[in-house]
Amino acid sequence: MEKKKIVIVGAGVAGVNAATKLVDNGYPGELITIIDMGSDPYKRKPEEVMTGFLGAGGWSDGKLTYHTAIGGQLSKYCGEEKAMELMDQVINNFKRFHPKPEEVQCSNPEAEPDFIKPYFGLRLFPVWHVGTDYLHEIGKNWYDYLMSKGVIFKWETKIEDIDFNNNIAYTHNTHIEYDELIFAVGKSGIDFAQELANQYNLPDEPKSVQIGVRFEAPQHHFQKLIDISYDFKLYRKYEDEGVSLRSFCTNNNAAYVAVEETYGDHSYNGHAKKDMRYRNDMTNFGILMEIQGIENPFEWSRNVVKKLQKNGTGLYYSPTRKPSTTSEGGDVTVTIVDDLTDFYEAMGDYAKYIMDFIGDMKKIFPTLGSDWGIYIPEVKYLSPEPLVNYNNLSLTTYSNVHFVGDALSARGITVSGAQGIYVAEDLLEK
Ligand SMILES: Cc1cc2nc3c(=O)[nH]c(=O)nc-3n(C[C@H](O)[C@H](O)[C@H](O)COP(=O)(O)OP(=O)(O)OC[C@H]3O[C@@H](n4cnc5c(N)ncnc54)[C@H](O)[C@@H]3O)c2cc1C
Repeated sequence: MEKKKIVIVGAGVAGVNAATKLVDNGYPGELITIIDMGSDPYKRKPEEVMTGFLGAGGWSDGKLTYHTAIGGQLSKYCGEEKAMELMDQVINNFKRFHPKPEEVQCSNPEAEPDFIKPYFGLRLFPVWHVGTDYLHEIGKNWYDYLMSKGVIFKWETKIEDIDFNNNIAYTHNTHIEYDELIFAVGKSGIDFAQELANQYNLPDEPKSVQIGVRFEAPQHHFQKLIDISYDFKLYRKYEDEGVSLRSFCTNNNAAYVAVEETYGDHSYNGHAKKDMRYRNDMTNFGILMEIQGIENPFEWSRNVVKKLQKNGTGLYYSPTRKPSTTSEGGDVTVTIVDDLTDFYEAMGDYAKYIMDFIGDMKKIFPTLGSDWGIYIPEVKYLSPEPLVNYNNLSLTTYSNVHFVGDALSARGITVSGAQGIYVAEDLLEK
């Protein structure tokens, strides 16, 4: 194996899994440098949701999806069988550094219940539950392991430019040279990825828009379905209109809504605490619309998200309820609105698909009625997704630069980590 200097930008799920695969297989840690603009797991604060060791995955609700149809950006590169094997490796890493690995459990629902069939499809797939509360400890154990292997970390260090032609990454006052670069900046680095894509004119894949709301209601309304599938995925398709909707990332028992800040605008997501001290008996999930055929989907989404800001935050609407508190007992940063005028103005006719979805949920969960609220918007920015070589996720125009994780539209912990490992395997083979 030829030993090269590997620089990983982003200590998120993808970057950390890549480094782990390398050192597990004898690659010298001293040749691996991981640079992150956030903090190490001992210093990372709860409000640092997107940055630091394990990235957005480190403060997530720790649900590891285990199916190639979810966050589908894996099997397209490596095939179904290899995708499952890579996901196994990610899940094993989370177990390996977990203080109580026996508590990592897999829910694997099988039957689609009759009561939802007239209105929705239900996508059923296995999910491994790590637990938000344990991620902190997992992060520390994992970090200690990589440090013990000699991996070099540079914290609170932002990469601001990369010279792909001369293999140099720049911070504001220094630079680092690399032989191979793993670009793993996640969602918090999406602006930077876009800048590089523009600067180097990187060819990319056509993308859809993914936008909607974070829905929240008392859990008992959904219990019948939660008993079948903890992280249920309701979906429906309007083929002719190029629109499909799905419920996304369901949190139960101790379920909280989290604010995401991208490009200075607020959008919403959710997480669940495993420690039952935090139990609030709420359920939250995204209702996400995938819209095909919009020109410049990235700009379109950003524009809609911008229109949905009021007083510097996103919106909350409910016929009867108030927003829930955060797990620390604070307010979720949101502006309460009395009606959906702003929502309809920003989304146009697309708002109706979401309201129909909620209307039909009321039919299959009869106690729901007006006992719900929505945090507006929830958004998944899918751009940019540069074209990569399928065997090692390297740019088609720069073969030593590998894009992984959310920077390659992975959308999720297992797929992001798996992509990191996939690249590491190729580097080990070289
Ligand atoms: C609240 C919340 C809950 C979630 N829950 C789940 C869940 O339960 N299950 C699931 O599968 N997914 C979940 N996700 C999504 C999941 O966390 C991400 O898909 C995953 O973390 C992506 O991994 P990544 O390595 O690509 O990026 P990230 O984990 O986001 O890591 C990127 C890292 O890059 C660093 N970085 C960015 N730009 C730069 C730069 N210019 N210089 C230096 N460093 C930089 C950041 O500091 C960050 O640490 C959740 C996300 C959020 C926000």
